[in-house]
Amino acid sequence: MLTSPIRRTYSSEPVGKSPPASSSGVSKSMKANKRSGTYPELVLSKLLRKRITKNTLPGSPDFVYRSQKLAVFVHGCFWHCCPTCNLPPPRTHADFWKRKFERNIERDQLNRTELESMDWRVIEVWEHEVNEHPTEAAKRIRAIAVRRGRTATRK
Ligand SMILES: [Zn+2]
Repeated sequence: MLTSPIRRTYSSEPVGKSPPASSSGVSKSMKANKRSGTYPELVLSKLLRKRITKNTLPGSPDFVYRSQKLAVFVHGCFWHCCPTCNLPPPRTHADFWKRKFERNIERDQLNRTELESMDWRVIEVWEHEVNEHPTEAAKRIRAIAVRRGRTATRK
């Protein structure tokens, strides 16, 4: 069993269950942002010829190259507050969403720090990158995997 070396402490309280969506538009965008097996993940899975892995690593990365110690997260632009897309949060329950998004960002940072402290390399790919340039996104990941593979065998 993998035990993580860092104790997880959040600066905020858990935010609890999401309030019901205020409109069908919001509901649609929330459903489109479900946690696993999202469209960009499936696209990358095909391009990388890699399965979306269930794992016990911090944050459960979407793709894992074990021997290269490389973890790939595909981040939904809505949930992870993509700075490029800068999507507006839902207008109702604004306070809840603000805390929720802050916590998501904090969790991403904790996961990254935790993985890096275990000597893993972390790649974060944004949903919009995969939607706009899927091949480039896959190429970037594969290139890093190959490079990591080389240094691993040299040791
Ligand atoms: Zn984005």
